Amino acid sequence: MSYEIEKTEAEWRAQLSPEEYHVLREAGTERPFTGEYTDSKTVGVYGCRACGAELFSSETKFDSHCGWPSYYAPLAGDRVQYIEDTSLGMRRVEVRCARCGGHLGHVFEGEGYGTPTDQRYCINSVSLTLKPAE
Ligand SMILES: [Zn+2]
Repeated sequence: MSYEIEKTEAEWRAQLSPEEYHVLREAGTERPFTGEYTDSKTVGVYGCRACGAELFSSETKFDSHCGWPSYYAPLAGDRVQYIEDTSLGMRRVEVRCARCGGHLGHVFEGEGYGTPTDQRYCINSVSLTLKPAE
């Protein structure tokens, strides 16, 4: 797979904090209820912390009580990439930034949340940077 933004692992390590690197480049997961955006209500756009691509709007963020920032849709479908993930003995769909390939989290559907899509994009705070609306 090739991405618009391509860097070596050494370049990513230099740019990102150890936790950001672990999540974005090694598909790690931050501990639940620890991320800075879990309960954020700030109006704005969430961009990829690795490359700045605008990924999610605060308008689609909802209270999932799952411990991570949750959105019911990306800003545009082509901003993210979906990859089947069968690690941990579960079939899940990984969500990556389509511009740099950075790991964002997973998307789940049919959980019964009262949102327009019945999907939950469960995204790590450290994969995102919130740009508050002016
Ligand atoms: Zn990115």
